[in-house]
Amino acid sequence: MIRVRDLTVVFDGKRALDDVSLELPDGEVLAVLGPSGCGKSTLLRAIAGLEQPQTGSVAWDGQDLGRVPTHRRGFALMFQDGQLFEHLTVARNVGYALRLRRVPSRDRRVAELLDLVGLPSYGDRLPRTLSGGERQRVALARSLAVEPRLLLLDEPLSALDTGLRARLAADLRTILVESGTTALLVTHDHEEAFAVADRLAVMRSGRIVQHGPIDEVWRRPVDDETALFLGYAAVLVGEPATRLLRSADLEDAPAVALRRSALSVAADGPLRGRVVSSRLTPEQVRLRVDVPGLGELDAVAPLDRHPGPGVEVALRVDRTRLAPIYAPVTGQ
Ligand code: ADP
Ligand code: MG
Repeated sequence: MIRVRDLTVVFDGKRALDDVSLELPDGEVLAVLGPSGCGKSTLLRAIAGLEQPQTGSVAWDGQDLGRVPTHRRGFALMFQDGQLFEHLTVARNVGYALRLRRVPSRDRRVAELLDLVGLPSYGDRLPRTLSGGERQRVALARSLAVEPRLLLLDEPLSALDTGLRARLAADLRTILVESGTTALLVTHDHEEAFAVADRLAVMRSGRIVQHGPIDEVWRRPVDDETALFLGYAAVLVGEPATRLLRSADLEDAPAVALRRSALSVAADGPLRGRVVSSRLTPEQVRLRVDVPGLGELDAVAPLDRHPGPGVEVALRVDRTRLAPIYAPVTGQ
């Protein structure tokens, strides 16, 4: 298994990685989630041996890799833009490393890999005839060809459009699980992280601020900034937090994060508010509601109820869409 300890990488006197420690058991998928520029690519490069850390270590099964060059680590790297060889067919791209290693039964292995990524009849195609999603599937098959003991994925789906990204994220998870691949994926997109990973590490300014099984991180974000980055719509602090938690029969906490659909219009709801604006979407009506004592918040209504601005509504609180925050709050 891979273990990263106290890794620090400095560029021009600035810490791109600041004391990063991570562990990833074999066969699991870890997503490192963080905004652009927080150090995600630097982390992958340091693990791959492409970046020299100032301090800290990367070890595999207890063996320090500090002096092991990139190509001897048994890791594979895959990027946002697949980086296929444009003049080679799909089959040749996928089998590239197998040819270099003179692996026998290469053709059969390539066929298996193309099956695995859902492109069974694509072997003779050239990369320029493929869609963005197909290119990333080919890049994935090529990365898996050498059976890396660790696959490092740098925002592999970020260049794709939204619908395709969601579908490919689900496929990516299936493929990694089916092939038993241990993988570390970095991304700025929380949906991608949730779709692909078992474990989640949240990164900010070169540091890991939270790390754990995905549902735990999701249910208990450490601070307001993390909550918002995980996709929560708002964070209430102090008295408003207490009031909202009480109305949901939850224990008090210094702050609480709300999903966009935590409040919904329902005649028997304990809260009252005045609609500020409303917008129809294919799934539901999305509202902004001014709730005395809580402020202006998101809420939802079923499609057959479309209360306009100024209308007073009763609101129900869905406690499964709230996350109490116990640590000090960073921003506001
Ligand atoms: P991310 O992948 O999360 O967007 P990066 O790891 O690429 O972030 O970059 C983290 C920080 O390190 C950024 O401030 C970036 O400008 C800086 N950085 C990355 N690579 C280099 C480099 N080779 N030289 C100088 N600064 C770098
Ligand atoms: Mg990057």
